[in-house]
Amino acid sequence: MLLHFIFVIDKDDLGKRTWEFEYVKEMGRFYKKWIKDTFSRDVEVQCDEMVTPKQSLLQRLDISTLTQDHRARGEDIFHFYLCHFRPMWTDCTCEGYYAENFGMTLWVKPKDKDDILFLAQKNCTTVSHELSHEFLRQNKVKKHVELVHDVWLKHTFSDLPFVQYDKNSERTDTAPYFMTLDASSFG
Ligand SMILES: [Zn+2]
Repeated sequence: MLLHFIFVIDKDDLGKRTWEFEYVKEMGRFYKKWIKDTFSRDVEVQCDEMVTPKQSLLQRLDISTLTQDHRARGEDIFHFYLCHFRPMWTDCTCEGYYAENFGMTLWVKPKDKDDILFLAQKNCTTVSHELSHEFLRQNKVKKHVELVHDVWLKHTFSDLPFVQYDKNSERTDTAPYFMTLDASSFG
């Protein structure tokens, strides 16, 4: 299976977010391993950028824009959109959305260049949330929605720490490069 991350950026940001896209590519390599370790699934990973044109208020970018793109690219590919806009509607407890072979999250733009910790804490974590939903669903795990949201609630309100990994995708207690939800309860 191909997991295709698509970094969706505003036209005005073209060429200005290269270091973030470099992180996205490293994150893709990390998630290939994490998905294998966590869900016993082999995926190939591809990463690309996509530029969105300026939108008027009447034609705001939303999930429907992305699902059209997903269909056009091929529905047998898992497309995961890292977006500069949030989903207008979602069942999720984070700013993301998923469906069959489809994921999207709000990718928050850091204030400071090279703030890897911000990317790990703010963006990498929500990606793990939506990936968990879809791989648990595909693996036919019962109550998969509750499983993810229960652990997310603990991260948000009960001081459960996110799991930290270094640049080589190994667990670390210091200077994390990637961070995910705690998947230990997924069985
Ligand atoms: Zn969710």
